[in-house]
Amino acid sequence: MSAILAITLALAVAVQDSSLVIRGGRLFTATSDQTVANPGILIRAGKIAQIGGTIDETGAHVLRIADDETVLPGFFDMHAHYAVDFFGGGRIDETEVYPTLFLANGVTSTFPAGEMQPEKMREARLRIDGGQAVGPRIFSSGPYFGSARPGWSHEIGADSIAKEVDYWVAQGARAFKAKGIRGPQLAALIQAAHRHGLTVTGHLDSGFRGSVNPRDAIALGIDRIEHFLGGDAFPADRTAYDSFEKLTVNTPEFARIAKLFIDRGVFYDATRSAYGYYGKQDPQVFEAFTDEQRFLTPYLRGALRARQPRRVVDRFETIYWIKKDELKALYDAGGGHLITIGTDHPSWGQFLSPFSIHREMHAIALAGIPNAAVLKMATINGARALGVSDRLGTVEVGKWADLVIVKGDPTADIRNTRNTRHVIKAGVLYDPAKLLASVEGKLGPASDAEAAAWGLGARASSNR
Ligand SMILES: [Zn+2]
Repeated sequence: MSAILAITLALAVAVQDSSLVIRGGRLFTATSDQTVANPGILIRAGKIAQIGGTIDETGAHVLRIADDETVLPGFFDMHAHYAVDFFGGGRIDETEVYPTLFLANGVTSTFPAGEMQPEKMREARLRIDGGQAVGPRIFSSGPYFGSARPGWSHEIGADSIAKEVDYWVAQGARAFKAKGIRGPQLAALIQAAHRHGLTVTGHLDSGFRGSVNPRDAIALGIDRIEHFLGGDAFPADRTAYDSFEKLTVNTPEFARIAKLFIDRGVFYDATRSAYGYYGKQDPQVFEAFTDEQRFLTPYLRGALRARQPRRVVDRFETIYWIKKDELKALYDAGGGHLITIGTDHPSWGQFLSPFSIHREMHAIALAGIPNAAVLKMATINGARALGVSDRLGTVEVGKWADLVIVKGDPTADIRNTRNTRHVIKAGVLYDPAKLLASVEGKLGPASDAEAAAWGLGARASSNR
């Protein structure tokens, strides 16, 4: 542990106890659509203490950034799977390298949206929060509620669900994720989570074979929805994806469901790039902007080279393009403040989910949504969806100092979010280049013996 702590401290450029002043460059606060000249930001005790005016720099670490660099609130990945599945043996949550990679990409807050190994994820969160490891904030989801959890039964009663929610809240869960759940169980989950003041999101279906349509989940009080809006365009006599691949948005059905989301303030995590990833990988979004393979162990790189190429899922390619219309239509209907950025990328080694935040922002901008709106989706919308917008999501006095500084202006070109120059979490300043260098060659198994655990370990591991 002391070795980890030493590395952690070495990676922090300036620590929380001293104040930090950011001078120069541009500022996007996420309270408006414009970038402005940075008037000077004072960070003290992990919070934004002052913006503009006469800043007393005595004893402070002064960070002078270049004219063409931009300060933004840290990004929220609202569907941030730490899970990897390199060998098709099941998903394993990766907690050694991924936290560092998320932070280096400017992702200062993550909601894992269903954890395969919730105890392991909890330990990672405690290490990060305790300062023994670097990483983003983890708004723990705990395990999946629904058939996505191995061993789940549709017979689990409301009392058991309430007890489980209480247990995971005591373990630090901050929101919950349903996937493959039935109506009565979802109702119990929502009720139990709301008793703790926490939100529930769901990967739902159409109503087909006992599943729940997002429309009906909204009636039950769900707070957020993943992947598709559902509604009457998703009839219960076929699966959601059967309807999704034929969805058109200029219909009364679409207008009704969009209005329902807006009227009820339900957040929508669209995960457009996840569909593109399983499809033909739109070369604009999936262009190589960095070498993600360099973080894999040499052993794993070799093992992945020997693997068959991934088969294109035609249905998801179709949905990727439908989502372009769907997102724009929801935005045009007035739902932009409800759209969040979620990557949903359980990696098999080709791309790594901590880098996918940039792909998802780009994919949503390519739907015709203004860059500034996309940046708000990645910041303040995420904070609001998690119920923490009083502390996070914008650059404002009194908020926790989670910031990312990029080269270029992402309101002019959203791809500039890729160029992280500095990351600040809770007032601690990190150099992304050093963070990345610290985990090169460390992701995944390093030998045949270790590979067995990575390929087959997930199914046997604890889900509780
Ligand atoms: Zn997912």
